Amino acid sequence: MPVFAPPIADHLFILYDLLDFEGHAKLPGFEHCSRDVIEAVLEQSSRFSSEVLYPLHRSGDEEGVHFDDGKVTTAKGFKDAYARLVEGGWPALTADPDHGGQGMPHMVNVLFEEMINGANLSFGLFPGLTRGAYVAIAQHGTDAQKALYAPKLASGEWAGSMCLTEAHCGTDLGLLKTQALPKGDGSYSITGTKIFISAGEHDLTENIVYLVLARLPDAPKGSKGISLFLVPKVLVKDDGSLGARNGVSCGSIEHKMGIHACPTCVMNFDGATGWLMGEPNHGLKAMFAMMNTERIAVGIHGLAIAEASYQNAVAYARERLQGRAPSGPREATKPADPIIVHPDVRRMLMTQRALTEGCRMLALWTAQALDVSERHDDQGERKTADDMVALMTPVVKAFLTDCGVEVANLGIQVLGGHGFIRANGQEQYLRDVRITPIYEGTNGVQAMDLVGRKILHLDLFGSFAKPVQGFIARLEGDERLAEFLEPLAASYDLLEDATRLIRERSGLLPEEAGANAVDYMRLFALTAVAYLFARAAQVSLPKGNADFHRAKLTTARYFMQRILPDTASLHAKIVAGAGPVMEMDERLF
Ligand SMILES: Cc1cc2nc3c(=O)[nH]c(=O)nc-3n(C[C@H](O)[C@H](O)[C@H](O)COP(=O)(O)OP(=O)(O)OC[C@H]3O[C@@H](n4cnc5c(N)ncnc54)[C@H](O)[C@@H]3O)c2cc1C
Repeated sequence: MPVFAPPIADHLFILYDLLDFEGHAKLPGFEHCSRDVIEAVLEQSSRFSSEVLYPLHRSGDEEGVHFDDGKVTTAKGFKDAYARLVEGGWPALTADPDHGGQGMPHMVNVLFEEMINGANLSFGLFPGLTRGAYVAIAQHGTDAQKALYAPKLASGEWAGSMCLTEAHCGTDLGLLKTQALPKGDGSYSITGTKIFISAGEHDLTENIVYLVLARLPDAPKGSKGISLFLVPKVLVKDDGSLGARNGVSCGSIEHKMGIHACPTCVMNFDGATGWLMGEPNHGLKAMFAMMNTERIAVGIHGLAIAEASYQNAVAYARERLQGRAPSGPREATKPADPIIVHPDVRRMLMTQRALTEGCRMLALWTAQALDVSERHDDQGERKTADDMVALMTPVVKAFLTDCGVEVANLGIQVLGGHGFIRANGQEQYLRDVRITPIYEGTNGVQAMDLVGRKILHLDLFGSFAKPVQGFIARLEGDERLAEFLEPLAASYDLLEDATRLIRERSGLLPEEAGANAVDYMRLFALTAVAYLFARAAQVSLPKGNADFHRAKLTTARYFMQRILPDTASLHAKIVAGAGPVMEMDERLF
């Protein structure tokens, strides 16, 4: 029987014991975030996720969404669950109180999103995209746009959707063709076809607000000529009431590998009325302003599925009887021992657990910096945190989603053939999570962002190096921590050396950065997770007798001894460089 229960003990440990949320809540605007309030938020969102969303996870996957002549109907139960989400005020968790929001920290939102997406990723996409649209309008909308749209998106009464991709342009948005012609009254007529649009059409809300990338008539070619437009599905009158249907429609929906209960739509804009957001030809800048939150959010999709798959694998491994423990029967009265006794099954469960806990720490550490970058009253602190967010965002997006796939894959292996069939719920996790390394910018592109832009161009490596070097230097010689500090220091040295190599070689061979980016990204992420596990060990060591802390220390040790050594092979690949990647003549592939 598949299981799902959000790991609130770990959430509270990371928030309060590891990352000092008491101190964090002193940031301006977080005065209401007392421990009681945060615990209540986590308890209630846990209940909502496991009692309302999780029961629709499998049925939504099996039923999918229905398309009939432009109309999209979601799976049974989704509409009611969405109404309950709105009723509970969940979409407004981090929204600005001026727009009716609760002004909660990004750190809390990470945990909320982990829960809802772990319970039901297809469902989680609807409020996730709405939040993205809300953030873009709150940051880049005119006062009138904010007044008309922000509160409705904050509450979830209306939904949001992002329209970037076209048939001929995915990663390379500079190729996009959708046109925006000025109508002379301040609005624009938008014409073009967008594909792969998540939640582009559905029956959960009476209006959907599309953020559409398009070109003005005199726009420069390429990515410097892209503007961002706000296009509502149903036009909104000045008093906020709904008017006529706009010229936008859903042409079809995709049949796909996973997230079956979230429609992926072809959206046709046929002279739809839209309004410019931000500066003309600077649409990508406006869109990228919300990318930090969106990319972290997609990273959370990976974390969420990893947690769900791990829980399911553990539950099964405790029940399934096969073979005997190598050291002799553990359950002698039964025909065989549960498979959790087998070292190879333990290896898989420990890998799932260590990666999942590591991903959670990485996401929360980055979200903490995001809060500081937005809230701190000292400009210097905000800038330092902002650099750290810029550096870590592609790492969170790519590493967490890669781990989501890896952990879900292991989850199937733990169940053997029973993981491959549908009944036990494991195969759906792998199908659902497989999109996450692709959308919101593929992980290859995230890695190039890390290497090309954040390390080589903006020179942000120091934002990571400083806290890590400081931590190692402060605790060097602490014997109890040595088993955590020494592997951390060793992989940090490898990372520093890889950074030096990439810097030195990037001027020599144009392919160098691209050929090494994915390996560098993983080396970076594993070192960051090692830093956080070492900090967690520092917290847990004095409390080592309590079960939670014993398990935390055991998991940290597993990570240091059985996962972190991968950094040596990643470093070796980077030393080998672009040569072996580029050598093969294209004709010979
Ligand atoms: C289920 C689903 C939901 C989606 N939801 C949305 C949505 O809501 N809104 C939206 O606008 N889009 C959405 N997308 C589109 C998604 O963001 C794109 O699929 C993604 O950005 C990749 O673009 P592409 O598929 O055209 O691949 P391509 O850009 O053609 O890339 C193919 C491969 O080439 C690599 N590549 C491409 N360019 C480079 C380069 N310069 N350097 C190195 N490698 C490169 C890529 O990493 C990838 O491995 C969705 C897609 C799917 C499948």
